[in-house]
Amino acid sequence: MSRWRWLAALAAAVASTLASAAGFDYQLQPRKVADGVYALIGKTENFSRENGGNIVNTGFIIGRDGVIVIDSGPSKAYGEQQRAAIARVTDKPIVQLLLTHAHPDHVFGNQAYPGIPIASLPATAVTLTQSGDALLGNLYRLVGDAMRDTEVRLPNAAAADGAFSMAGRKLRLMAARGHTDGDLMVFDEASRTLFAGDLVFFERTPTTPNADLPHWLSTLDSLDSLDFAVLVPGHGPVLHDHAGIAQTRDYLRWLRDGLQGAARRGLDMPEVLQLPVPERFQQLAVLKTEYERSVTHLYPAYELDTLPTIPRSKPK
Ligand SMILES: [Zn+2]
Repeated sequence: MSRWRWLAALAAAVASTLASAAGFDYQLQPRKVADGVYALIGKTENFSRENGGNIVNTGFIIGRDGVIVIDSGPSKAYGEQQRAAIARVTDKPIVQLLLTHAHPDHVFGNQAYPGIPIASLPATAVTLTQSGDALLGNLYRLVGDAMRDTEVRLPNAAAADGAFSMAGRKLRLMAARGHTDGDLMVFDEASRTLFAGDLVFFERTPTTPNADLPHWLSTLDSLDSLDFAVLVPGHGPVLHDHAGIAQTRDYLRWLRDGLQGAARRGLDMPEVLQLPVPERFQQLAVLKTEYERSVTHLYPAYELDTLPTIPRSKPK
C-alpha cells in the first residue's frame, strides 16, 4: 500500500470512528396527524445498518397535563431521539409509555424512559421476559452500531382493555391478538385516531413470526365497525380510511388460503416458496423476504393439519 493510500485509509477509519462515536442520527420528524396527536413514520424496509432499525411507526398524544408515548422504537438511541423530538413539539412532561406488542422494533427504546410507567398487555411482558435478550441480540446482529448500549427494559405496568384516562386525555385501549399473542391498540377519543400497532400494515408486507392468522383476521373484521378518522399503522403511511385494514386482510387471507391449499395438495416447502404471488401484492415493500419468512414459520403447522389422525388404541 502506498503511503498516500495508507493515509487515506487511516483518515477514513478516523472519520468512521468519529461518526459512530457521535451516534446514529435517526432524523426523527414528528408529523401531526390530528389535534395533539403525532406520528413518527419509519421506513418500509427490512432492518439494516443504514436505517438503524427505524422501520417502525411510533407516536405520541399530548394531553392537558402531559404526553403519552406509543412504542419506543428499536434502540436506546431511537428512544432518546424520540424524547428529544417530542420536546421540540411540547414542553409538557412525558407521563406514560404504552407498548403495542413485544416486537423488537417497537420496544427497545424503553431505556430512554426511566421512571416513567411503561404499560403493555401481560402477554407482551411475558414474551419480553422470556425472549427479550434473544430478540435484542438478533437486532444487534442486523442493525449493528445504532443499537449501541441498548438493553432490555421490561414493562412495569399492565394495560387492559377499556377506557384509559391519562393526562386529561380520554383514550380507549383495545386488547387483541393475531399479529402476536398480545396486541394493544390505542384509540384517542377526541381525535378518533387509532394507533393500530402491527395489526395493520400498509404498503408494506405484514410480518408473521408470531402470528395466528385466524385471530388476526377476526381482529381486522372487528375494526371494520370502529369509527376512526385517522389510522396510524405499525408500518407504512398514515391512513384516513379502511384501505390498510382491507389490504392487510386481503394479504393474510391469500396467505392462509394458499398455505392451506398447498398443504392439501401435498406440496413441500420449496414448492410453496415458488408459488406465484398475485399482481396486487407486488407493490408491497419487502414482499419476497416476508413471504419466504411466512412460509417458513407457518407452513409446517398447515402440513401437520392435513396429516390423518390415527386413533390410538385403548389400553387393555
Ligand atoms: Zn410486529
